[in-house]
Amino acid sequence: MATPKKKTSSKSEAAAPKASGKAKVAPAKTVAAPPVEKPKPPQIDPELLEEIKNELFKKKQELGSNVSNELDDMREAAEGHHLADMDDLGGDAHDEETQYKILEIESAELGQIDMALERINNGTFGMCETCEKPITPDRLRALPFTNLCITCKRQQEANDR
Ligand SMILES: [Zn+2]
Repeated sequence: MATPKKKTSSKSEAAAPKASGKAKVAPAKTVAAPPVEKPKPPQIDPELLEEIKNELFKKKQELGSNVSNELDDMREAAEGHHLADMDDLGGDAHDEETQYKILEIESAELGQIDMALERINNGTFGMCETCEKPITPDRLRALPFTNLCITCKRQQEANDR
């Protein structure tokens, strides 16, 4: 007598239950992370930080369009000189020099603004880069892109002399 072999399908059909209504929601809480000792960023009033951030963005846009306009002007002026007679070149040279100075200052400021925005992003904004002490809110308000506290700034200026 042959024993009847039960031919069970070898394929497992244990698929996920279909259409069971609501999907399972992932557990919201994982195990609480242990407190990490981080170097404390300076405590800045979030409102002030937001204010400064907006100020920096505004200034950045202003300066950015100024700089590109001035570059355009200078390019046009330079082209003009090539086309025109060299007669009144003397008068323009001074203007160009001034324009170049302004452009230089504005570009430097743009760089400072970018650095300040970066410091906001990585949480070191408002900290003096030299002595690592917090810069006073008043100073930050007046000079949002400063990276030195008043003491270090004065010291630096004294050294420059
Ligand atoms: Zn300092």
